[in-house]
Amino acid sequence: MRDPRYDILFTPMRIGPVTAKNRFFQVPHCNGMGHAMPLAHAAMREAKAEGGWAVISTEECEIHPSGDVSPYVEARLWDDRDIPALALMCDKVHAHGALAAVELTHNGPTASNLYSREVLIAPSHQPSKYGYPAQARAMDRRDIANYRRWHRDAALRGMRAGMDIVYVYAAHDLSLAMHFLQRRRNHRTDEYGGTLENRVRLLREVLEDTKEAVGHRCAVAIRFATEELLGPAGVERAEAQDIVGMLAEIPDLWDVNVAAWYNDSVPSRFAPEGAQEPFIDFVKKTTSKPVVGVGRFTSPDTMVSQIRRGVIDFIGAARPSIADPFLPKKIEEGRIDDIRECIGCNICVSGDNTITPIRCTQNPTMGEEWRRDWHPETIAPAKSAAKVLVIGSGPAGLEAARALGQRGYEVHLAEARRELGGRVTREARLPGLAEWARVRDWRLGQIRKMQNVATYLDSALTAQDVLDFGAEHVIVATGCHWRRDGVGRSHGEPIPGFIDNAAVFTPDDIMDGRMPDGPVAIYDDDYFYTGSTIAEALRRAGREVVYVTPDDTVASWSANTLEYRHIQWRMAELGIEQIVSHDIRAFADGALDLRQVWNGRRRRLDCAAVVAITSRLPDDALYHALAAREAEWADTGLRTATRIGDALAPGLIAHAVYAGHRIARELDEAPTGEVPFKRHFHTPRESDLLRPDA
Ligand code: ADP
Ligand code: SF4
Repeated sequence: MRDPRYDILFTPMRIGPVTAKNRFFQVPHCNGMGHAMPLAHAAMREAKAEGGWAVISTEECEIHPSGDVSPYVEARLWDDRDIPALALMCDKVHAHGALAAVELTHNGPTASNLYSREVLIAPSHQPSKYGYPAQARAMDRRDIANYRRWHRDAALRGMRAGMDIVYVYAAHDLSLAMHFLQRRRNHRTDEYGGTLENRVRLLREVLEDTKEAVGHRCAVAIRFATEELLGPAGVERAEAQDIVGMLAEIPDLWDVNVAAWYNDSVPSRFAPEGAQEPFIDFVKKTTSKPVVGVGRFTSPDTMVSQIRRGVIDFIGAARPSIADPFLPKKIEEGRIDDIRECIGCNICVSGDNTITPIRCTQNPTMGEEWRRDWHPETIAPAKSAAKVLVIGSGPAGLEAARALGQRGYEVHLAEARRELGGRVTREARLPGLAEWARVRDWRLGQIRKMQNVATYLDSALTAQDVLDFGAEHVIVATGCHWRRDGVGRSHGEPIPGFIDNAAVFTPDDIMDGRMPDGPVAIYDDDYFYTGSTIAEALRRAGREVVYVTPDDTVASWSANTLEYRHIQWRMAELGIEQIVSHDIRAFADGALDLRQVWNGRRRRLDCAAVVAITSRLPDDALYHALAAREAEWADTGLRTATRIGDALAPGLIAHAVYAGHRIARELDEAPTGEVPFKRHFHTPRESDLLRPDA
């Protein structure tokens, strides 16, 4: 039963002409599926509606080809033929009593028009934001009138699709309505530029247009950035206060946050739960309309506190709803311990940035609701009474054991170490990564409630142990280790001076507490988070640290998880020197021989130790020993032995969790064929080939 302290989270609230059944509001979030994969998109949104969210929003929704954000795949309402895809989502969301919302946008100079080939438009002449070799032209009065018309038409289409809430988007530095507010983008001298009143004019007009067009049936929401953290070059809190004051009662709802996206969806490494409060807390004092705010909220106590203290009315969430689509239901049913808390790793964000369907470290079903029919909470019951031995309790083994346990199998989980969790337990000790232990904690919490899953610590199994155990299925999830020889992306052969050198360390050493004396060089040939976290750990332990990478920038893949800027700021704050575009040729006599990758110039870097962050090797000896004895399997009852996760191929924690989940889903199930999931086919129909006006 629900704890009465959380009752307030379940009180309905009116938003203009519609009513939300509770205070859980899935704010707009990208997903890499958008208009290209409408069935997958609708099923993903449906999972959240089923999980109890009162409002389910789309991602940003393009209103016109001149604001085309290709190659990113978002929602689209360019013309009437885009309506059915979103109607699909509305129907699925409504089936569970939730409201559907659409976030309309025209991204002006932050669009690309790579697909439409239209000329970009902006408040004033300016380069396109994302480095496309083109400029946006200044909009004239006719362009402004057109933009208002496109927005109104898209709002009407949204209403026809079945949307209950239509957003005007002025956040994340991503939409014309916001670009007109920004002094750095708006240099106009007409009634749309100059004074704040003039810069706000277009936003006010678009809000009023939208209300006039659809306000009788739909609530009109504004998504508004209250701070850009750019100083006077951006919208600052003081100016935002004036803007909210000027528009306070026009929209039916204020959804407020910090811009740009990297300041909004900040990874847990750089910001705790509820970090936006100081930037948005004034809004509720300025308007009588309901306010939505985000903050990677997973704790119901924090949620209640925000509402009781008058900070927000709705618990806005993107990531917490991705990690656990059933978060509201679990609070409602008094199952707080069952909440699968977001760890703030931003792998979900990387889906949008790599233009691929969203995935989540904590929730392996995210993005698989339609194409694999994976439900976030339910799973098919066991098809046999088989006994399964899972070896290794990292994210892969833990998830396999949990999900097999949920199916009802008899599961035995053996771990060599004296602690469970494998890499997540160890990585969570690195600076800022403590929340990553939630990957372990949620799974352990679930497993401990199951009678049919046993765990064994301090149990380094051999092939003989496994054969003696008498399981029918063995899942080998024994993980991997970092290489010490320098082999990786830049080196196919060991780096001279690395092998048998006690001054060469790996991330495993640091995580196990074996710290080098300084000065230390970090050699990052991996390009994601490990290099900068190890550098930070050593710096905080008082070592002098120089970060060396053959890549042209620091942690380049972290741009996909919005970590890149935060990593740069953190390294600057800690005084970690960076040497980019330099490879190591050799390590000898207390110095690295570095080579500039483009011009070949050599440089000596004195250091007492090197941490090699290059690549990893699977710990698969047990698997191979078992495979070598396959002839003996039948006698012991063993039918299958499968390696998964890092023991198969080292990857992200998300990959390991996914592998564990997948094997649990597929055990005893019929093979699914060459392509293991449903696909979207785009078979053109004659009507699709016509221009909308033809
Ligand atoms: P993954 O990311 O694939 O889950 P991890 O490295 O996180 O991999 O976890 C692998 C776990 O397997 C580690 O905790 C390790 O101690 C354990 N392990 C490795 N070999 C054995 C073995 N022979 N018997 C039991 N546990 C093992
Ligand atoms: Fe949270 Fe990571 Fe899942 Fe995103 S991928 S929702 S940040 S756990």
